[in-house]
Formats: sequence, C-alpha cells, structure tokens
Amino acid sequence: MHEMTLAQDMIRIIERTLGGKVRLERVNVTIGPLAGISGESLRFCFTEIARLEDFGEPELTINYTKARLLCLDCREEYSSDDLFHCCPRCGSIRKRVLSGREFTVDSVELEEGEEPDG
Ligand SMILES: [Zn+2]
Repeated sequence: MHEMTLAQDMIRIIERTLGGKVRLERVNVTIGPLAGISGESLRFCFTEIARLEDFGEPELTINYTKARLLCLDCREEYSSDDLFHCCPRCGSIRKRVLSGREFTVDSVELEEGEEPDG
C-alpha cells in the first residue's frame, strides 16, 4: 500500500528532525487533492507504524487543501477538489495545475514531558 510507505517515510523524517524516538501526541499534515493519497488510509497506517515503532499513539490531523488551476484559454485561476471541473468563467477544460499535489508534515506535538532522547 502506497500510504504505508508514506507513513514509514513520515516516521523517519520525524525521527531525524527530532533527533530520536519520542512519544507523539499529534501530527499535523496537509494533503492536496491531487497528491493521490487517501487520508483515511494514511491515518490508519501512520497510527499503526507509530505504535509499532515506539512513537506513542499520535493522532493524525489532516488539513485537506483545494487544487489551484489556471485556465489556459481565459487565464482564470480557480480552485477545485479534482481535475474534472471546467473553467467557471469560460467552460474550457484546458488547464494547468498550479498547486494541489502537495503532501507536507506541518508540525508535530509531543506528549507532555517528552524530550527527544538523542
Ligand atoms: Zn477559462
């Protein structure tokens, strides 16, 4: 499963950033609608991996963004949840993706009293 790999990468990045294993309270991520990631699936995988790898039982909070698209015919910029919308101004389907493929770990919150153990 693609989300399992992502969850493993997230744990590695968090571990490297914090300098060791810590018990996490919450992890905040942003997922764009064109990133090809199932938020629910990622939540499940991340919780499992965090538990198995001794990172506590963190809650994964997901901020879902909208995609920004640029109409190639009338230059209108508009937002959408997917790539299947026409331009709201001229109805064209010719578009460029400006954003929406992002996947970022925005912040992590540690359990109270936790310090990275180096
Ligand atoms: Zn247009």
